[in-house]
Amino acid sequence: MYYLPTSAGILAALALSCSHCHKMNSSSEEPGLRKCSGCRRLAYCNNECQKADWRHHKAFCQTIQLVEKDTEATREMAAAYSQAAQNDLETLNLISIAHSDRFIALCKKLLQRPLTMREIDVIAYEPKCLACARPNMVLQTEARMAEVASGAVITPCERCKMSFSCCDEHWLIARARHQAPCDTLPGTVSQCDRNLELCADADYGAVLTTEQEGQIMWRIIKRQAAWSALTGRTWEEVVGSDVASAVAGTTFARYVPAFTRRVSSLQSTAFTILYALEQLNTGTAWTEKSELTINMIIANPSDFDGAYFHEAILHRAPKVKQVTFYFFLPMGIPGAVSSAWASEICGDCASANKAIFNHFVQTRTFESFVHNEAELFVQPDLFIVQSSTLIAAREPAQWRRTIALLVARRIPSVFTTFSRRHAESGQAVLRECGAELVPSLSGVMNPFGDMRMKPNYNAVHGFHGPNAWFAGGFR
Ligand SMILES: [Zn+2]
Ligand SMILES: [Zn+2]
Ligand SMILES: [Zn+2]
Ligand SMILES: [Zn+2]
Ligand SMILES: [Zn+2]
Repeated sequence: MYYLPTSAGILAALALSCSHCHKMNSSSEEPGLRKCSGCRRLAYCNNECQKADWRHHKAFCQTIQLVEKDTEATREMAAAYSQAAQNDLETLNLISIAHSDRFIALCKKLLQRPLTMREIDVIAYEPKCLACARPNMVLQTEARMAEVASGAVITPCERCKMSFSCCDEHWLIARARHQAPCDTLPGTVSQCDRNLELCADADYGAVLTTEQEGQIMWRIIKRQAAWSALTGRTWEEVVGSDVASAVAGTTFARYVPAFTRRVSSLQSTAFTILYALEQLNTGTAWTEKSELTINMIIANPSDFDGAYFHEAILHRAPKVKQVTFYFFLPMGIPGAVSSAWASEICGDCASANKAIFNHFVQTRTFESFVHNEAELFVQPDLFIVQSSTLIAAREPAQWRRTIALLVARRIPSVFTTFSRRHAESGQAVLRECGAELVPSLSGVMNPFGDMRMKPNYNAVHGFHGPNAWFAGGFR
């Protein structure tokens, strides 16, 4: 199973936002969120929000309570935890995954239906100790078994409120790692920092309308007027000052970091394309081509980015007149209709006779298109697959044939994925298919991935996000 949780879903699962309206505890004057007295997991602003959500929450709320009262099941769950704190993250995460799997299976049996994504989030993001992975449910079971109240209870980090420890001793052990730069996040961001950012991202999302965001986004895109290399730079270095100037004097001036992260979400595709082209080409001649052709396999027919998402390419490489995209699905849909359209572009680009053309080849796979539509196939400047893990898992045999074809035709290619683990397994498959990987695009973090990374579910540490890692790149 693979899904991308939302910030709102995570915050609701941690009882940091209202499970109905997603409002967070923003000011100290307002009365705080109140936890559901049944499951004590979700929180609400007030009775109205709780009432409105009850028909969605009722069955799950009662199910959680039944599981917690099941002595045999909870004892079995508690037995999986070792007494001591664990330094090895992999071990902690495995304990955590086993616990969630068991918890989900018990709920499913009682509910006689699969859990919804929202319900899975509640279990996957259940507060658990950073040092021993225990959730409250296990601490309570252990206290009952020992017949003494240990007093151990899950307590949040005072700064971020999103990571937890079960006792002072475990907090002392876990704190250093929680506050140190995290190797699954870009730069020197720590788990504690990213947790705080996640709350700021949700706050930003609640304040800005789509229209306001669009206006500012255009201002940011239009500030670029010449090619400048991306290698060795970060999102903040490349767009940070553009964001600051675009929001200067508006009420959004305090959202520069959150806005920069939003730019990284919306424009990750455009910047990943530019960054990959820079890595796969020698020199800058490619930035002066009149046309760039990009081929892309997308996971779902609805995965096209919106209007201005790709336009950054025209502004960052202003000598390029036309960008042509060919989109493919992992498997062709027989009987579907292929379509072609021009993207809406800004007035400046339109009057300079620039264009972004899109072709959605739904009926055939990329492989079949190359073989059977030879007269239409243009050797692309870049072949890109984002979320490659999703696509690879869906049609593994087809996937290997596609890679072999790219290698045989010497098509410059790049594959991104969500996490280090996925990057490592993806990289292995690329090698097995004969790809000679370029080090700067292989098994490393993508400096132009989506900065709005989410905590890994079922885990006490680690983050993932769209485009976050490069599985591999070759030419
Ligand atoms: Zn509410
Ligand atoms: Zn409840
Ligand atoms: Zn602990
Ligand atoms: Zn913290
Ligand atoms: Zn433009």
